[in-house]
Amino acid sequence: MRSKIRKCEVCGEYTLKEVCNKCGCVTRNPLPPRFSPKDPYGKYRRMMKYGRDRSA
Ligand SMILES: [Zn+2]
Repeated sequence: MRSKIRKCEVCGEYTLKEVCNKCGCVTRNPLPPRFSPKDPYGKYRRMMKYGRDRSA
């Protein structure tokens, strides 16, 4: 699953556009291609949680 979220490195604004809404600078994808856009530790947290707390 690929995220199209981009980030302006000038003002820190997140956007889906290639140009920042605020300052007009070119935005970049803040995540490397192989890095999951979702929480990379989510599965470990679920594993830990599953044993003692299944409310989540
Ligand atoms: Zn900006």
